Amino acid sequence: MRDVDVEAFISALSPGARLLRSSDADFPEMNQLWNSYYDRVTPEYIVLANNIEDVVLAVNFARDSGIEITPRAGRHNLAGLSSVKGGMVVDLRHMTRISVDEAAGTLTGEGGLKFGAIDDYLWKHHPGHCIQGGMDPSIGYFGAHLGVGHGWRQREFGTGTDNIVAAKVVLADGSVVTASREEHPDLFFALRGAGPNFGIVVELSTRLLPVDREQKPEVRQGFMWWPLEKAEAVFQALVDAGRRSDFPDDLMWVPELIFVDEQAGLRLSHVHYAGGDAARAEPWESLLESLISEHGGREILPWQWVTHLALQKEFVNLPPRMPWYTSGGFSEKAKTMDVFRTLVKQFAAVPNNLTSVLLIPYGGALARRDVTQTANPAGPQDIEWLFMFWSLWQNGAPDDGEAVIAWTRETYAAMRQNLRYGYANGTAFDQCNSEYARFIYGENYDKLAQLKAKYDPGNLFHHNINIAPA
Ligand SMILES: Cc1cc2nc3c(=O)[nH]c(=O)nc-3n(C[C@H](O)[C@H](O)[C@H](O)COP(=O)(O)OP(=O)(O)OC[C@H]3O[C@@H](n4cnc5c(N)ncnc54)[C@H](O)[C@@H]3O)c2cc1C
Repeated sequence: MRDVDVEAFISALSPGARLLRSSDADFPEMNQLWNSYYDRVTPEYIVLANNIEDVVLAVNFARDSGIEITPRAGRHNLAGLSSVKGGMVVDLRHMTRISVDEAAGTLTGEGGLKFGAIDDYLWKHHPGHCIQGGMDPSIGYFGAHLGVGHGWRQREFGTGTDNIVAAKVVLADGSVVTASREEHPDLFFALRGAGPNFGIVVELSTRLLPVDREQKPEVRQGFMWWPLEKAEAVFQALVDAGRRSDFPDDLMWVPELIFVDEQAGLRLSHVHYAGGDAARAEPWESLLESLISEHGGREILPWQWVTHLALQKEFVNLPPRMPWYTSGGFSEKAKTMDVFRTLVKQFAAVPNNLTSVLLIPYGGALARRDVTQTANPAGPQDIEWLFMFWSLWQNGAPDDGEAVIAWTRETYAAMRQNLRYGYANGTAFDQCNSEYARFIYGENYDKLAQLKAKYDPGNLFHHNINIAPA
């Protein structure tokens, strides 16, 4: 690190902002991420920014001193990319301003916002509206949307990234620009999917979507399970149904290989934005009920109507502060069942019963994505499912997760030949390199490398799934 004046940096910060040093008493608490595996990573500084000017100061400080820098939003990144050993974290947790323009149909928010807070705000102040969020309310608006952003309504409205309409960003040279279709459209393309490579985003505007018009429950929800030996037959039936031309875009079937009551199997989340219309919901429920009786399944929860808000708040309940490893990728139609069979075979030998594999359906609006508009290429080209590992183990496990990590790597290696793209928001710490970035960004990689050379030629923002400047 070059000699820089830390005291001058501190005195230039805005009132309410703070520079935490690793020796400060509250540093360990403020350094905690969702994934406790990264408690071992200690930055030298955490800047608790309060506004855009603080972020500009931090970027200039990092560039001039040569210290590594990384932004932190919702703190959920599974590769630990929002922490950097010996470097500077720019933590946006105090930047949580939101504004809504109903006439324009947009919400603009800052980097400390999590989806749960946005859902609550809209429910209270702008009923009838939601945004394309994460399925989990605890994740960060920015980290999700600047990568991909999968939510319950993606088959109707596209990914979170697709719904971004503008981003205000602090670039490597300390300048602040707004990127949209009209202003800096090339940067707008890059931020939508490869965001962390191009700067620190300070404001994101996204489309408002309609939901629960009179705050009545309009979402049909079901939750069921089958034993592992029946998983292939059930999944094949789900795949076949998903390929039917009358399969609705507002229906999401999210299967997961997981242990329920100590038994490995296939669990299915059924989420249908059916507008409260029982007749529209019925055929798909009957189909699942027949799969339950045919293949020895059972309901975990009785069918019910819920509001979007209730679904967002209660449905996903993943344990915080445990060590996690991940990996993930997208399959094309022709390869889906090959990938699934590999997974089922491997899952029979998974080293613990905490680990699961989540499958997220594509198709619908995602198959109609204009992939020239965002860095993410996945969607058309017959992309059918995203496979993602939730590989976790107990804190303090004697092998520090070695067996689970080895199982995940081995399983992923066996699947990889049948995957078309990697997944930016489900990348393992040992996959964060330019070679893997090529697998994620596919045909968009070379264009992104050129844009990286234009907007961050010195690769200041390299603590990420790095796109090397061309
Ligand atoms: C429990 C759990 C549930 C999940 N559920 C979902 C889900 O339902 N849908 C979904 O799509 N994904 C989901 N994910 C994956 C999630 O999208 C990624 O983990 C994402 O990286 C989290 O973003 P964050 O803001 O919370 O994390 P952070 O760790 O704060 O940031 C994520 C990445 O973005 C970078 N970044 C943060 N802020 C900025 C900024 N202002 N400008 C530029 N780059 C920035 C960070 O440096 C890091 O590389 C889930 C993950 C977990 C652990």
